[in-house]
Amino acid sequence: MAAVIDGKAISAKVKSEVRQETEALKAKGISIGLAVVIVGDNPASRVYVNNKKKACAEVGFESFEYALPEETTQEELLALVDKLNKDDTVNGILVQLPLPKQIDEKAVINAILPEKDVDAFHPVNVGKIMIGDFAFLPCTPAGVMELIASTGVEISGKECVVIGRSNIVGKPMGMLLLHKNGTVTICHSKTKNLAEVCRRADILVAAVGRANFVTPDMVKEGAVVIDVGMNRLENGKLCGDVDYAACFEKAGYITPVPGGVGPMTIAMLMKNTLTSAKIKNGIAL
Ligand code: NAP
Repeated sequence: MAAVIDGKAISAKVKSEVRQETEALKAKGISIGLAVVIVGDNPASRVYVNNKKKACAEVGFESFEYALPEETTQEELLALVDKLNKDDTVNGILVQLPLPKQIDEKAVINAILPEKDVDAFHPVNVGKIMIGDFAFLPCTPAGVMELIASTGVEISGKECVVIGRSNIVGKPMGMLLLHKNGTVTICHSKTKNLAEVCRRADILVAAVGRANFVTPDMVKEGAVVIDVGMNRLENGKLCGDVDYAACFEKAGYITPVPGGVGPMTIAMLMKNTLTSAKIKNGIAL
């Protein structure tokens, strides 16, 4: 029977550490600001942006919200990014994805100064992750690393399988596990014998985007099972990529959805924004 990894509690601890450091910086006259840009009125994006603003208030950051209309042009958005790049009160810039179709996401990500790119999506930050010389880690994989660390299970030398190879989750996830000396396999829709590959995993991370995709026949007895998936069912309920109830008996550790990876992503965003402010002010990390 699995031990449940409590993402809510672990994220609260991360945020409380960020809050303490933020208060100490405030006492030295340094305040921290995160700019959150949302274009259009995607309801899921709205929820994410509200949660990020709430987290900023919790840790003592200033948050600056820019809600732009659906018909915003690429030039208008790039002009805002340029303004935020130059604004000293802004330590982190987050442009909520997806963007409306008239805007090239890549052009916008590339326009954010790497030192304010707290999502770590800019090619410079992606490259730094590759060579292991990073200041920011993409928030979701970084959060997963904290969850794995909380179990006390050593990554070094272990078989780690990641299902999914997206730029924001799967690929950086694989790199972070590799930096910790895991033996990493990244699976995708063309992977043959997926269940067999997954069954090798001491640490299994699912980032597929398909409800209940991971079934017990894919899980090794006692494995750490991390569910990144956030899938909305027809009844409106949130559901992970792992069939939680079915895999619970077999896994050694498992994350629930909600209350697993989701809260960690936002906590790591706060940590990245604090890191940006520390670097700017020459404070040791
Ligand atoms: P994505 O860009 O759609 O990538 C999904 C990946 O899954 C792709 O690499 C795809 O393979 C692979 N895949 C799809 N069907 C498969 C199959 N049958 N067998 C094996 N692999 C398969 O998704 P994402 O952005 O990485 O997100 C994944 C999930 O995590 C989603 O549910 C998303 O909502 C969630 N998410 C959660 C958070 C959080 O904070 N908790 C953050 C980000 C994302 P191909 O590359 O071959 O197509």
